[in-house]
Amino acid sequence: MVVSQLAYKLLASSNSKLLPSCSNLDRIHSMWNSIWNLEVPHKVKHMIWRASHNALPTLCNLRRQKVVGSVLCASCNSECEDVVHALWGCASLILVWERNEAVTKLLRYKFLTFTDLWEMLLVMRDRLDINLMAMIFWLIWSRRNTARVGEGTIEVNQIQKKAESFLQDFKKFHSSKVHRPLIPARVVRWIPPIFPLYKVNFDGATFSTIGAAGLGAILRDHSGNVIGTMTERIQLPSSLAVVEAMACRRALLFAKELSIFEVSVEGDAEVIIMAILAGDTANLEYGHVISDILSVAKDFRSCIFSHVNRIGNTVAHCLAKKSVSGNELQVWIESSPDDIAPLVTRDSLYPA
Ligand SMILES: [Zn+2]
Repeated sequence: MVVSQLAYKLLASSNSKLLPSCSNLDRIHSMWNSIWNLEVPHKVKHMIWRASHNALPTLCNLRRQKVVGSVLCASCNSECEDVVHALWGCASLILVWERNEAVTKLLRYKFLTFTDLWEMLLVMRDRLDINLMAMIFWLIWSRRNTARVGEGTIEVNQIQKKAESFLQDFKKFHSSKVHRPLIPARVVRWIPPIFPLYKVNFDGATFSTIGAAGLGAILRDHSGNVIGTMTERIQLPSSLAVVEAMACRRALLFAKELSIFEVSVEGDAEVIIMAILAGDTANLEYGHVISDILSVAKDFRSCIFSHVNRIGNTVAHCLAKKSVSGNELQVWIESSPDDIAPLVTRDSLYPA
């Protein structure tokens, strides 16, 4: 089980007296865009924004303010009620999440903050309706508040239906308005990681005529500076999916070799990324490699996996192809091979 552990938890702490740094401001900006571009009622956006700032009056937060004595969740009576628990992790909510396969898979993860969870949902937004998710979170929170004052609530298994119907009504009223989202639904170029994360892009290539395959990886910081690049030629495995999984594992090990322990791992192999996110090690061909990846990921302080369009993964792709010639293993520290450097520069020219 991978624990999503984004390092900048200051942001989620309402007790923090520190001013946000530039990196935190980047993250706040990104959260702000993702929430204010939602097509949901304003009160829902507001509630999600407060959840992302750990500013909802959960029992954990109320006890910090010495308003209540017990932090035990009234629904499950087994865990502390913080924001992630109240809106997502409580066992009493399983009936809400099990209706959506992509969402159910996320239940295997432990999210420390609502922001961690929200960012994961954004990564998966082509597989789920982020507006519906926001509406469901709002209904869960409203239901919890109604129950606390002793009023009747809707059944848990009615939440999804109700959220869908609220969303439909909202869209009907707002269908005439045209919204141009500030954030594209799918990222189609390389985007630098948010400090203090480093991003490692990986890709695999096959050379069936010579019975070989290539693994390529590039590690960059939040300014697009190259920490290291590598390419390795290996014996041709049984399928391209296996090569992609091996490239992912190699990229993680490469980051470890360079003593980088806060990484965002990105590749264009959707099936592999999905298997990692779901912790699914059952595949007969590459399941064991996924299992290795999950195990290596535990050595990192932060390790997030995401899928990127091929264009956003061009450098890693060219590195994998490059392995066809030269030594079996080629590594460049704080640089990239001359023929690939222009592509790295092109990536870094785009604003974050
Ligand atoms: Zn609970």
